[in-house]
Amino acid sequence: IIQDFFMKGEILKPGQSLNLQLAKKIAKIYEIKISFDIEETEEEAIENPLAEIEKYFETKHKDSQNLVLRPPIVTIMGHVDHGKTTLLDYIRRTRVVEKEEGGITQSIGAYQVEINGKKITFIDTPGHEVFTEMRARGAQATDIVVLVVAADDGVMPQTIEAYNHAKSANVPIIVAINKIDKPNANVELTKQALVSKLSLIPEDWGGDTITVPISAKKGENVDTLLEMILLVAEMQEIKAIPDGPVRAITIETKLDRGYGPVANAIIKDGILHVGDYIIAGKVLGKVKALVNDKGKRIKEAGPATPVMIVGFEELPDSHSVIYSVESLNKAREITEKIREIEQRELRKKRHMKLEEILKMME
Ligand code: GDP
Ligand code: MG
Repeated sequence: IIQDFFMKGEILKPGQSLNLQLAKKIAKIYEIKISFDIEETEEEAIENPLAEIEKYFETKHKDSQNLVLRPPIVTIMGHVDHGKTTLLDYIRRTRVVEKEEGGITQSIGAYQVEINGKKITFIDTPGHEVFTEMRARGAQATDIVVLVVAADDGVMPQTIEAYNHAKSANVPIIVAINKIDKPNANVELTKQALVSKLSLIPEDWGGDTITVPISAKKGENVDTLLEMILLVAEMQEIKAIPDGPVRAITIETKLDRGYGPVANAIIKDGILHVGDYIIAGKVLGKVKALVNDKGKRIKEAGPATPVMIVGFEELPDSHSVIYSVESLNKAREITEKIREIEQRELRKKRHMKLEEILKMME
């Protein structure tokens, strides 16, 4: 075959993978009967069971009478060293009452703070990697982006990148102009850069971009920033389904030494209870325990609550959306279908080897 093809000017190599088209061509020339299981499976498509589940949530969201306001989920983004981690740490340190009784404090990927009785959920990992990943799974995980720009450095490449991510996701941006305690901080110059490089015009310059000069290190004006987040959240009217089955966004999954496979997630709709059956992609589970951001075991978790979910049979994909379902049977049915769909995708991708064709000739 290799020789014949070489004479025709086509190069084939031993061990080469053949796509369907090429495999068919060879089969035809040499009159080999090949059954392509690729084609057979293309006929009867399995409907993705998650589509139906999603439809339930989308339908519920269309009728705003079913909905309640939920706390905003906020991601902090910006150029390296501009102060994202410092800001997240400062807010957590000053706003979260750590170590509730009986709890072992551990990071669960997100935390919640309360300002004048109103809550904000912060995703604990700064940077746009998380943001893109979450977007990739089709579920919007963030309601507001805080773009941190150091006043002694201005708008830098990753500032622009972060801005583009937020913009394409249609997520409102609040600019925190950081490090104002530094002698070489220049807030005016930074604002000029926001205008010239990002077309973000600060409110006090007649535009509609909220900018807050802060020092994440000293905590100066961080309260104002938090108030601005609440203000933007109020304008956005961020809503959730207050009860019923759950839809949650995974932030990360890991094998915990004590708990086994866990998913750190933020609930978006519904209420998750201990004992509920859950699915995350092809993995199923029964909620054995829920641990909140203060390391405390809770019985249930509602919209915008960051929670560590214990009880998956295996480690779920860190990109998956978590749903609660009514029974173990339902969970099995759905996850088996997802597995089957995945396997078919793999089979489709599998290429035939030249040697496999040879075997069929013998
Ligand atoms: P990240 O890469 O955006 O997470 O930046 P970091 O939070 O790690 O901060 C980078 C450096 O800037 C650290 O040395 C911080 O201590 C410092 N830094 C962050 N915020 C401030 C601030 O408001 N004032 C001053 N003077 N230094 C800051
Ligand atoms: Mg950092």
